[in-house]
Amino acid sequence: MVDAEWKASYSEAIKDIHGDCHFEESAEMLRRLIRTKLLKFTDLKENPERFFEAHRLLLAPGRNSDREGSGFGVRFTVQFNLFAGSVLGLGGPEQVAELDTMQEKGTLGCFCLTEKFAGVNSGLVVHTTATWSPERQQFLIESPDRGSVKNWISQGLTASRAVVIANLCVNGKFYGPHGFLVDMRDESTGELKPGVVIEDMGIKTTANDLDNASVEFNKVWVDKSALLNRFADIQDDKYVQTTEEKMRIEIIGQRLLTGRLAIAEASVIFAQRIFEMAREYAENKPCWAPKGQPQPMLADMPQLATILAEADRKLSSLVQYNFAVEKRLNSILRENAIPDAAMVEAIAVAKIKSVQTAIDLTDRLRREVGSYALMASSGMQSVAWLSMCAFAEGDTRILMQKLARDSMKKFKASSWTDTGKEIVFGTSAEQQEMKFRFLLSRALSGAASAADSSRLWNENWELVYGLAEAVCDRYFAEFLGEEKVLSKL
Ligand SMILES: Cc1cc2nc3c(=O)[nH]c(=O)nc-3n(C[C@H](O)[C@H](O)[C@H](O)COP(=O)(O)OP(=O)(O)OC[C@H]3O[C@@H](n4cnc5c(N)ncnc54)[C@H](O)[C@@H]3O)c2cc1C
Repeated sequence: MVDAEWKASYSEAIKDIHGDCHFEESAEMLRRLIRTKLLKFTDLKENPERFFEAHRLLLAPGRNSDREGSGFGVRFTVQFNLFAGSVLGLGGPEQVAELDTMQEKGTLGCFCLTEKFAGVNSGLVVHTTATWSPERQQFLIESPDRGSVKNWISQGLTASRAVVIANLCVNGKFYGPHGFLVDMRDESTGELKPGVVIEDMGIKTTANDLDNASVEFNKVWVDKSALLNRFADIQDDKYVQTTEEKMRIEIIGQRLLTGRLAIAEASVIFAQRIFEMAREYAENKPCWAPKGQPQPMLADMPQLATILAEADRKLSSLVQYNFAVEKRLNSILRENAIPDAAMVEAIAVAKIKSVQTAIDLTDRLRREVGSYALMASSGMQSVAWLSMCAFAEGDTRILMQKLARDSMKKFKASSWTDTGKEIVFGTSAEQQEMKFRFLLSRALSGAASAADSSRLWNENWELVYGLAEAVCDRYFAEFLGEEKVLSKL
């Protein structure tokens, strides 16, 4: 539970934060907020309820008209979740202790994962390298080609530190992606460190109070202590695994999971706020009626009334689902444990369905409320913010592909055989998932090679995404019961 006193102090601290400013001013607002220590960098582990509540209060632009369309929420989550959260999750005790100093100073940090060539597949594809030099007892961080340059990095122009994800090479052997805490600038002079090359991504259609940069590492030397060393370290010039848990992309991806859930929750709150305002307007906007007939309100128009009612049902189901997932995740965060595959899927489902539903409902609403949709006070201009939610912290399509692939793997591992007979499936979420597995399995069965299988997978993309939707429904059924499955509401 988040206490009311903290909520009041935090709400007061963020009330003047706005998006109508240069990114330098926005960065300064975040430095001030960090220094209040109302949300600590360590709260992600010690007080996760507060971490999520802070996100809910800040991330959804519709809650404060001055922040509509603002990039401050992204700046905030990058700082607290991706940057500080990665140090907390991947760092050894000394690195974690550094977070207190950074909080005291209001140090800004960014998170450099995405590479130009990799796009939404970043993490799977990491071409930035960190090579251990026994002579210098340092790592050399490099972007070996144009495609490996990090891009879209939030707070990339204003941050003085960065968590950089690079493929670690020791004695000629690559050990995969690892996190490094790198100084981007000299904190006292603001000068960029030698070899760090940053470039503005340019003007965006929304959220220009957030700086987004491409970051190139042109032979950047960093000390041994830069390697976030909770899971792996260099000892006697050798790579060593320091825990039972092997360092892998899923471990780095922990931060994407907390951010993923925070974004899911914020997009639902955003949609609720847009609907709340539209409903108030529509219930008070009289419409014409033929003489002698009762005068209807805009909200009585059947097409609009239907959307308003559907939004109530679906958004309330999403709130309940996200809350249930957050509750389970919070215990895992407190124990500093790694979530299992089912938890990872449950979070993916939260993000897919929250963002998809928020986009769908707000888009349909916009087309049914007439001139109101053009008014700045409607919040509709911020709907582009939701598309940012669709690819941040795990792109919707990529998450859906993974749900479908994993569902098919379980199916193949079962003893089920296709007898060629038609099967009648029930309407439950579980039965519908079986139906899509069955249809997809048949569609893929003619594949003669891996390339053929990949071609058939793409050709049957509608079945693939149909299966992913069915997996989402199954999670809703498991968490809340069949009656709360979104496709039935
Ligand atoms: C405002 C903003 C802030 C960001 N902040 C950060 C940050 O701080 N740190 C960071 O590391 N990154 C950050 N990112 C990067 C972000 O997380 C995405 O990784 C990045 O935007 C991917 O962009 P792209 O257009 O190159 O994607 P592309 O790879 O070109 O993909 C475009 C679309 O194609 C589809 N697609 C692509 N590949 C597949 C596939 N295999 N299967 C199915 N569909 C596919 C997806 O629908 C995807 O949305 C940020 C991005 C933005 C826009």
